[in-house]
Amino acid sequence: MSTKLIDKLERDRSLTREEWTELIRNRTPSTAGYLLERSQEIRIRHYGHDVYIRGLIEFTNYCKNDCYYCGIRKGNHNADRYRLSKEDILNCCAQGYELGFRTFVLQGGEDGWYTDERLADIVASIRSGWPDCAITLSAGERSRESYRILREAGADRYLLRHETYDSRHYGMLHPPALSAEHRRKCLWDLKDLGYQVGTGFMVGSPFQTPENLADDMLFLTELNPQMVGIGPFIPHHDTPFADRKAGTPELTLFMLGLIRLLLPKALLPSTTALGSIIPNGREQGILAGANVVMPNLSPAQFREKYLLYDNKLCTGSEAAESLRDLKARMESIGYHVTVARGDSLNR
Ligand code: SAH
Repeated sequence: MSTKLIDKLERDRSLTREEWTELIRNRTPSTAGYLLERSQEIRIRHYGHDVYIRGLIEFTNYCKNDCYYCGIRKGNHNADRYRLSKEDILNCCAQGYELGFRTFVLQGGEDGWYTDERLADIVASIRSGWPDCAITLSAGERSRESYRILREAGADRYLLRHETYDSRHYGMLHPPALSAEHRRKCLWDLKDLGYQVGTGFMVGSPFQTPENLADDMLFLTELNPQMVGIGPFIPHHDTPFADRKAGTPELTLFMLGLIRLLLPKALLPSTTALGSIIPNGREQGILAGANVVMPNLSPAQFREKYLLYDNKLCTGSEAAESLRDLKARMESIGYHVTVARGDSLNR
């Protein structure tokens, strides 16, 4: 039965809520095997054996929000806070460019220090310094006007995971000040302003049901984003979810396969969280249909401070060294890291 649904998904690129739920709830190792064969083939059809890399610059771990799962939540008084200056950030870009990165991703907590003026100035400097590179922001929920200013300053892409579509489930993961509706409104604003958008969710977050995941898939169908980032939830010891179970690599890979069938041309990162939870996680993600990896370009002394969850992959080695390691890992499974902006084919 499930392989029929997988065939239907590949053919129609849509399923009903009931069908998604059944496919996810009743998955078996054998249906997963079938799915991942299909998803790998579709990935190779559109993107060959190329792996795009993004230079991730974690520019601040200050955050005004208190998401129950996140290690850099405002309420974690044990977090050692830092923010990168414009000069620090530009140095990361210079180093990254030398190494072959053509996309820079500025990710951080929601830190009021980075006003529109300051962030736009940073974006404009990267834009003029490296005109052939894509600039991606991942700085949380801001006003439409703020997104407009940043787009005008030169940002091309924005990553904002919707985290979970269901309002009730969203409310179990976030304080009352945050809402699923507002987060989604940001995504529609970003799309409307001409950003290439990335959204996504955690797999195996506390209280998540197959129905929740079905709703996430329906939302992806509707939004049709250029990129979808998913990774397992991993507990952080200084959060309210310290004692919760982590999401599994098995379900994460299954969801990656489903997303590749739903959005054949989307960019799908094999995420740090997946790489953190099992030794060959990033390779397995690529083999399940992912085509992007986002190595860390942040200065080594700050990396361990951007601790969203426990045991986050952070080698401590210099960017050049970890890139060599990553390239070798991709070659070992028959894939190749490429020097390119790597724009989404999903327009
Ligand atoms: N402030 C930005 C960046 C958030 S960090 C924003 O709001 O978009 C990037 C992503 O890390 C989050 O969207 C979340 O899905 C993920 N994340 C946070 N805590 C996590 C945890 N404990 N386990 C797994 N993923 C986590």
